[in-house]
Amino acid sequence: MPELPEVETIKRQLKRGILNKKIKEVIVKDKRLIKGISPQIFKSKVEGKSIKDISRRGKVLIIKLEERLFLIFHLRISGLLILSKTTEDFSRVIFRLGDNRLLNFCDARVFGEIRLINDWQKLPFIKAMGPEPLELNKERFVKLFEGKKAKIKPLLMDQKLLAGVGNIYAQESLFCAGIHPERRADRVRSGELEKVHHCLTSILKEAIKKKGTSVDTYRQIDGQEGGYIPFLQVYQRENKPCLNCKTTIKRELIGGRGTYFCPHCQR
Ligand SMILES: [Zn+2]
Repeated sequence: MPELPEVETIKRQLKRGILNKKIKEVIVKDKRLIKGISPQIFKSKVEGKSIKDISRRGKVLIIKLEERLFLIFHLRISGLLILSKTTEDFSRVIFRLGDNRLLNFCDARVFGEIRLINDWQKLPFIKAMGPEPLELNKERFVKLFEGKKAKIKPLLMDQKLLAGVGNIYAQESLFCAGIHPERRADRVRSGELEKVHHCLTSILKEAIKKKGTSVDTYRQIDGQEGGYIPFLQVYQRENKPCLNCKTTIKRELIGGRGTYFCPHCQR
């Protein structure tokens, strides 16, 4: 599932690729992806509008059109945005631009969502979202976790607490900080939380530089894989030796999600 670095990569690439382009035509091949508005009204409101800005909040991509209209893309599990001259596998909603290139919203499993809205800040899942990790200093980061009895790893992934972090980067950050993913947040000392903050922000920035992690369906807008896989330290390394201490990496279900960790380095 695309997390902050993947959606940020898509945002930056779209900004270079489609800013100020006009959406000439919308082809809705699968209306299940369009939420909160009929596909016909969606089509008639979007067609003919120019793309004015592209931004990101958490894992959500926001395309600003003319007349204060916003296209909101929630990629969820397998959503992709591919810019090409042809339709792609699993193209569900296609935006044909003025220069005839196609912005394909592809989604193999159809969990993604597309909305058209004026006040995107008022969407319930946006309103409830916690702060952006790359905009938080360490003091504010530590405060988020203070006194929380839940396990640290599911908390890191809780979009209401902190926006944009998912299964991959929560695990990589906790490995980097030497914190066991099952430790209760109120039993992680503030100095350790500062280390999690440092690890998380540097890992997110590095993953953005490498254009994201393609462990599953995620691709850049030209269809290429992101380049962060060789830099993963613990994710999907079950039964392999820890890169620090050579102890065998374990995998356990924590908060319902497969979680990799080193039982020696992470306490
Ligand atoms: Zn280790």
